[in-house]
Amino acid sequence: MTDTPTQLFIGGAWVDAADGATMSVDDPATGEILCHVADAGPKEARLAEEAAVRAQTEWARTAPRVRSEILRRAYEIIIERTDELAHLMTSEMGKPLAEARGEVAYAAEFFRWFSEEAVRIDGGYGTLPDGRNRMLLSRRPVGPCLLITPWNFPLAMGTRKIGPAIAAGCTMVLKPAPQTPLSSLALAAILKEAGLPDGVLNVVTTSRAGEVCEPLLRGGRIRKLSFTGSTAVGQLLLAQSAEAVVRTSMELGGNAPFIVFEDADLDKAVDGAMVAKMRNMGEACTAANRFFVHRSVAEEFGRRLAERMGALVVGPGTREGVDVGPLIDRTGRGKVEELVADAVERGARVLVGGRTPEGPGCFYPPTVLACVDPASRLMGTEIFGPVAAILTFDDEDEVVSRANDTPWGLVGYVFTEGLDRALRVSERLEVGMVGLNTGLVSNPAAPFGGIKQSGLGREGGRVGLDEFLEYQYLAVPVG
Ligand code: NAP
Repeated sequence: MTDTPTQLFIGGAWVDAADGATMSVDDPATGEILCHVADAGPKEARLAEEAAVRAQTEWARTAPRVRSEILRRAYEIIIERTDELAHLMTSEMGKPLAEARGEVAYAAEFFRWFSEEAVRIDGGYGTLPDGRNRMLLSRRPVGPCLLITPWNFPLAMGTRKIGPAIAAGCTMVLKPAPQTPLSSLALAAILKEAGLPDGVLNVVTTSRAGEVCEPLLRGGRIRKLSFTGSTAVGQLLLAQSAEAVVRTSMELGGNAPFIVFEDADLDKAVDGAMVAKMRNMGEACTAANRFFVHRSVAEEFGRRLAERMGALVVGPGTREGVDVGPLIDRTGRGKVEELVADAVERGARVLVGGRTPEGPGCFYPPTVLACVDPASRLMGTEIFGPVAAILTFDDEDEVVSRANDTPWGLVGYVFTEGLDRALRVSERLEVGMVGLNTGLVSNPAAPFGGIKQSGLGREGGRVGLDEFLEYQYLAVPVG
């Protein structure tokens, strides 16, 4: 912890907030203060924006190979420092060390992927239908970007945006979540070490997100917002972006259905459920939120899932052998408690868990609820905790319509051994991603994102880079 930067990163320098203001970073496993980091206000945000604007022209001219190699070096440094970064992440966010190591690898992979894509930015040359005019197409960086990230994947949500922005030649102001600023500050230090020029990435930690970000979005110099977080905040930021017509990418909330048909392989379905529900303690936008299980296998599925969930070890993420760390904070845990109490009041059966343990830290036990009433609040709310809510269904049309009956459309999971049904149901689900007989969809090489109120645009894959590029078309008449 001693070497982790705690100041703002502006124009390549580590600086304090103007009035020396700081905010605490807490350990969710103990509730104790880990350290303090700079707490920026609108003035420092302006300085960060100015640094990004100043660096933009030169950075856009940098050779793609140079940008690619900076990303590649940063990838290698991250991998070398996996343990250090994992410990840092666990201390501020709570996830078990094994999961934190997994996130470090996942986060680094975005840099490797976009280092490879940076040198493949294409253009075009063509004859227009009149046979006379020629069209030259080139790609250029969209310009200075504001990147806003949540606390649940402190490193990967940063690299998923910073990677393509660097590859495209954009400069950035990054505002990480106040609960987990340390991973982002460590990442900035790594990029500096990897040779990123001053001003290309600026990091502003703050407890006053609205005051800091709104002027940047309305000011006209930031040309792109890439946001990951809740739908409610996303909607607010879209409205603020409208004034200066800022281009936006929005990775918002989810309400994932997890559908188990009567012909599913139940071993695969339970394995998939453990991943889709328990990755990151259930604090993931991709977390299975509603388990629809065919009536004929619901009892068996519930029993097996409860057995697996009940065997997980809950405790501080730094302790060896722990599977489930604390939730992010008391507010997050309080929400989970309320949702479970509401479901139980409406008749849900608790197969395992459901009781908050005594003592410090924000722990909540892995919980399985059966016979959940569809009117329960957790059906229409992201649970963001280790709670699996099981409902039954009788036929395919019914389950597809119930799965789609939500304003969100990020991801869905389908378990069946029938190829016909697998493809038919996947095509009918109103989601941006489907896990077919798997509980994990995230991969840096695949386009991640949702439809409906789960967002706009995609991150990762080839298209992840398009989000940071504009086209320029040159019309050339040829005599
Ligand atoms: P959040 O409350 O929406 O916050 C996300 C980020 O936005 C934080 O940095 C937050 O800072 C900032 N923010 C809040 N209000 C703002 C404002 N007025 N102006 C500018 N920034 C503002 O979400 P969260 O609780 O951190 O994260 C959980 C949510 O993220 C869930 O809904 C989850 O589904 C979603 N998520 C989506 C994806 C995806 O790829 N689709 C991935 C991960 C998470 P403050 O905390 O200081 O307000």
